[in-house]
Order: sequence, then structure tokens, then C-alpha cells
Amino acid sequence: MLQVTHENRFFDIWPRVVRAGSRATIHLKPRYRHRVLAPDAEFAVSVFAAEHMPADSGGEPQARVTVRAHEGTLSFAHEFGEEQHYLVEVSTTGDEAAWPRLRFPVYAVTDDLYGLLPLQGDMHMHSHHSDGRESPEFVAASCRRIGLDFMALTDHGQYAPSIEAQEAFAGLPLDLLICRGEEIHPPDNPVHMVSFGARHSVNEMIASERPRYDAEVSQLAASLGPGLSATARQQVASCVWVFQQIRSHGGLGIFCHPYWHVRSGYTPSAEVTAAIFARQPFDAYEVIGGYYRHEVDSNTLQVARYHEEAAKGRTLPIVGVSDAHGCDNSDLFGWYRTVVFSPSASLDDIGAAIRAGRSVAVEAMAQESVRVYGPRRLVQYALFLLREVLPGHDEICAAEGRLMLDHLDGDEQANAHLAASRGRSLAYLRRRVGQRP
Ligand SMILES: [Zn+2]
Ligand SMILES: [Zn+2]
Repeated sequence: MLQVTHENRFFDIWPRVVRAGSRATIHLKPRYRHRVLAPDAEFAVSVFAAEHMPADSGGEPQARVTVRAHEGTLSFAHEFGEEQHYLVEVSTTGDEAAWPRLRFPVYAVTDDLYGLLPLQGDMHMHSHHSDGRESPEFVAASCRRIGLDFMALTDHGQYAPSIEAQEAFAGLPLDLLICRGEEIHPPDNPVHMVSFGARHSVNEMIASERPRYDAEVSQLAASLGPGLSATARQQVASCVWVFQQIRSHGGLGIFCHPYWHVRSGYTPSAEVTAAIFARQPFDAYEVIGGYYRHEVDSNTLQVARYHEEAAKGRTLPIVGVSDAHGCDNSDLFGWYRTVVFSPSASLDDIGAAIRAGRSVAVEAMAQESVRVYGPRRLVQYALFLLREVLPGHDEICAAEGRLMLDHLDGDEQANAHLAASRGRSLAYLRRRVGQRP
């Protein structure tokens, strides 16, 4: 997890995100009596544009104003221009020892992103029902502890564990969206696919309706056109069928870890991977998957593939997932996640945002710097949010995650505390990223 910076810990600054091309008022208030704003204290506020600035500005601020504190808060208005990162500098006109020179970033975004919530999630994880270590409900509570807003358990070939995770918290006031899911392994097909949020199990559909699956996949295979080997044709057709089923049952179909290196080579084959990208039957590509440190080549290749495919001019929706097989003192869990820019924390809105290409994949391995992958514009905004806004959100979630574990442990008071915390994490975000107009 990221550290909360000094300015964010000791100063309440809002909003942190403003609409590009509009006038906005920013407020700054010291917290915990770390500093005191005397009623008539006077401050100089300068705003610098970090990226787009006039060529002849010579590093000068866009604006410099003098403002007085009012009821313990410093407020100033600024005409924000293009979408970019701005740096606000606040210094006292009086005793410098009493007030440090503060610099804090503010971000202006255009209307398509303004007011959307940066929600974090992981939609590929395992429990002890397949090859993971813990129960589904323990995994769900652990997700809240690391700041996630949505999650799904996706055991190998099993849909029921994801329902167990939901049922363990049924009726509880939670802001963590616990979704249904599964990792799908059709017969004679090495491609791994994840269903996120579908209302029915595709694994169970294949098992209970095998003749229908075989017939429909044969039909799809015949329609794929020339240029594929017989084996690849069957595998790609099977994937197309699976993704169609996921989508028709309201889910998001994820093409998982195409550069997974097992035994002597990558799984699936390059021929199958190329055919899947060419047809794009999936809703999202797992650009960052749950690879251990010694497997870093696989994520590097998946990112390279993302750029190669995106350069062909397509929108390639992406997710980052941990594929964790254990949450407690484990590798992978919390290392990789998705940030989605969504109007709400509903499954429909989150799925639509991902399909529309409004998501990035985040890599935050233990002891490493945070990296973000996806469209450049979203990467830049997400880096700002991960540093300036999300750590405070994640702290609220951590407290709720602990209460979820206490609830599982039979603590009857935990539910009342969870009810009291309801809405806090989203309110925290809205105060900083603004309200959708
Ligand atoms: Zn897998
Ligand atoms: Zn998996």
C-alpha cells in the first residue's frame, strides 16, 4: 500500500480533482492542530501547470494570489485550463517558521472523466475450494482490508465458492461489492477464461449440456474462416462460445494470462492467442496477471502485447488481477489490481466502464514502486490518484475489512460498526474527485 503523504495526512485539501476549462475553488484546512490558521493570516498561493504551459512562461506560475484565512480554512479560486496535473504552492507572507512552504498537486480532467469514482477491484482469485488456501469469505474480507471496492472469487471450474463469499455477508451493510465469478476450463481447451459477475455458471452449463456445447462449438469452428490449424480452430471456437455465454448472462469475460509459461512453453499457443486478439470475443484482457517475481517476463510480454494490439487502432479493455491463491502473508494478493473510472459502484456501471476502456491495471508488488498500465491519459490520472487520493480511501476500507473478519469470527458488534461506516469510503472519494454533473 502507498504511504499517505505529509500534506494529505496533516491537511484536508478539497477538491483534488477539478473540471478542465472551468473555475474552481480549492480549500485547505490543517488537520489535528498540526498547524493553525490565524484568522487574519495572509498567504500567497501560486498555481503551476505541470505539463501544458505557455512556452514563454519561464517556469512562472499561471496565477499568484494573496488570500486570507477564514474560520480556519484557506480558500482560493483558479481558472483551470487543459486536462493536466497542476501544482499549487501555498506560502505565508508572514513568519515562515510558523508555516512551511506547501506544494500539493491538483488534477484537472475533461468532462468524460470528471466526477467518476476511481474504484479498485480484483476479479481473479482462488479459495480453498480449488487450489487456494482460505475460505471464500476470508478472501472477500481480505480484499476490503487492502482497499478494494469490488471483487470476485473465481475458483477453477467452480462457481459456487463465489456465492459462498456473497452469502457469508448477506444482509450486511457493506460497500465492498462481492460479485459472482469462476475460472472456466472447457474440455480440450488450454485457454483460461474468467467470468466476472455472470448470473450463471458456464462451467456447469458445459458439464450439464455437453452435447449442446459440442454442437455449437463445431458450428462456430466451421465459421471461423481459413488459416487456422484444426486444433487452434477448435480452441478458439470454444473461447468464442464461452465469452458469448458469459456476456449473455450479464458477466464480463476476461481473457486470462496468455503468456503463462508452463513446463516447456507458453499456454495457450501463439496461434491461438493471435486468433483471439484478432477476433476479440472477450470483454477484457488480463494485461497484468498474477505472476510471481520469477515470472515477471510474462507480465512484461502481456504489456508489450497490449501496446502491439492497441496500435492496430482497437480499444482493448484491460484489467489487472492478482490470481492470488492466498491472502494472508502471501505473494500476489494485493500486488495487482484494476482501477475503474465508474459513475457508481454497481456491477453494471463497473462492467460498462471496463468495456468502454475506462480502466487501468496497477502493479504494486511488495517493496516496489507502483506502476500503472493502460491508455496514457488514464495512466497519468491514475498515478495522481494512487498517490494523492486513494491512500485515505484505502485506510477507511482497511478498518471495514477488519470488521468483516470480526463479523465472521462471531463478533456481534461488528455489524453495527459496519453500518456506521457505510458510505464513508465513497463519500471520501466524491469529496475529492467531485460530483458527476
Ligand atoms: Zn488460470
Ligand atoms: Zn486463476
